[in-house]
Formats: sequence, structure tokens, C-alpha cells
Amino acid sequence: MVIVPCTLASIAAMDRLGTRRVRLLSMPAIVAVNSAALIYYAVARRRLRRTVTAASGAICPRCGYSLIGHDEEALCPECGAPFAREELARLWRGWGYL
Ligand SMILES: [Zn+2]
Repeated sequence: MVIVPCTLASIAAMDRLGTRRVRLLSMPAIVAVNSAALIYYAVARRRLRRTVTAASGAICPRCGYSLIGHDEEALCPECGAPFAREELARLWRGWGYL
């Protein structure tokens, strides 16, 4: 994710400018990047939860393709993963999305 390049850049900057000075300068950047990553994660999770809820769990867990209108058991037309609707609902419920 975004955090790794930022952390590596911070370490490289510490080598160039001195640890104490850079630590003070880089803390707001690290906090900002981590906050942005957490907000991104929360928004993506909320969006996925809405999609899964609207489809009553009929979403392929591998590719996110909507399986509404497909047979109870078949292969995902997008990625070819086998699915069973009952299994999908149990899976999404277990992950806290349904
Ligand atoms: Zn799929």
C-alpha cells in the first residue's frame, strides 16, 4: 500500500538529514498517510458492505462480480470460481459484510 513507500522514503530522508530533525518533520506526514489509508479502507469497506447487502450476498468473493440472477450453484462468469449462493451468504456474513 501507500504506507510502505512513505516509510521507506522517511528512512532514506533520515539518513540524509539526521534522525532527530527528520523524525520531527516526518511525523505529520506519517500520520497523514496512515490516516488517509484508514479512511480509504473504511470507505472501501462501507462501499463493499452496501454492494453485498444489496445483492443479499450474491457477490463473487474472488472478483466482486454480482451473481444476482445466476443459478444457485455454478461458476462465476467473470473469473470462473465455483460458488453456491448459500455458501456465499454464509461467507459474507462471517466476514461481517452481510
Ligand atoms: Zn468471480
